[in-house]
Amino acid sequence: MSSVIILADFIGGKNTKTTAELATAAARIGDVVAVVLAPQGQGGAYAAAITQGPIHSIVVVESESFAAHGVGAAADVLAQIIVSKKPAAVLIASHAFGKEVAGRVAVKTNSGIITDAVDVSADISATQMVFGGSTTVHSKISHGTPIITVRPNSISADLKQVSPVIEALSFEVADGSKKSKITSSQAPVQGGRPELTEADIVVSGGRGTNGDFVAVEAFADSLGAAVGASRAATDAGWYPHSHQVGQTGKTVSPQLYVACGISGAIQHRAGMQTSKAIVVINKDPEAPIFEIADFGVIGDLFAVLPQATEGVLARKS
Ligand SMILES: Cc1cc2nc3c(=O)[nH]c(=O)nc-3n(C[C@H](O)[C@H](O)[C@H](O)COP(=O)(O)OP(=O)(O)OC[C@H]3O[C@@H](n4cnc5c(N)ncnc54)[C@H](O)[C@@H]3O)c2cc1C
Repeated sequence: MSSVIILADFIGGKNTKTTAELATAAARIGDVVAVVLAPQGQGGAYAAAITQGPIHSIVVVESESFAAHGVGAAADVLAQIIVSKKPAAVLIASHAFGKEVAGRVAVKTNSGIITDAVDVSADISATQMVFGGSTTVHSKISHGTPIITVRPNSISADLKQVSPVIEALSFEVADGSKKSKITSSQAPVQGGRPELTEADIVVSGGRGTNGDFVAVEAFADSLGAAVGASRAATDAGWYPHSHQVGQTGKTVSPQLYVACGISGAIQHRAGMQTSKAIVVINKDPEAPIFEIADFGVIGDLFAVLPQATEGVLARKS
């Protein structure tokens, strides 16, 4: 059986559930080899953190260069692994880091690339949602090793427990891949809420909040959800730009997306239309976002959200 490489998704030293999602898609194609790029001396701990997903084996590479040279070093090593293992395909998480690594790897290995896939089939064809989610595209790479980035939360992960075979390899990072150096970095301030692009539930607020996100945040917290915002809300300075959902913000695909006081402009839909279930709270029954809602409440978010929060908390107690 052919092998498929996935780049294990570690953020801030923690394995994310995206690794299991990538493995689930990759297992349709062949035996899954998870590549773990770890700081020097931490390869064992990183590999041990991968306990779920249909993963056949893990290749661990330790290097100080990953922290010092970021995407350059990661892409260099991943390209060398591809040349040596000759996988049928390579799947990488479709976030900023993953897409940059994928682009560089595609160039280094003279391969085709597809980004932002929401699904990958056994024949290595990828599904993408384009034009703000209004069009579905199926495409296949015809040159080199298919390099595909897959949006977090798009694939329902097979979370079976695994104890994969672990192989430690060492590769030199070429000088050409060390031309940029990370001189300092600061971890994002973590509230108690999940990361927007990885959250199972996202509750977003728009211009309808009039700048008051208290009810949106309280409802999100009752559900253990991340908080998103429309561009109208972020441009007004009501919520940080890092929480913007949409064409020029983040793309989310949660199990549940709750849009509060958001009209549903095409640029906002582009970032949330692939959510599995969409709930809308808007006082205007003509708001276009109702067109894509699975469940809609016509009403004032300041009246609806506190009742919804109370209802959720009552069910929990
Ligand atoms: C190039 C470009 C890129 C863009 N990128 C993005 C992007 O990434 N993300 C994004 O979101 N937008 C983006 N936009 C902006 C987009 O076109 C819209 O302007 C924006 O999404 C509108 O935000 P909104 O829905 O919050 O505001 P509005 O369109 O003003 O809608 C507010 C809604 O709130 C409802 N409302 C008001 N008060 C209440 C209340 N008390 N209770 C319930 N409902 C209420 C209203 O009925 C209305 O439907 C982009 C635009 C351009 C041109």
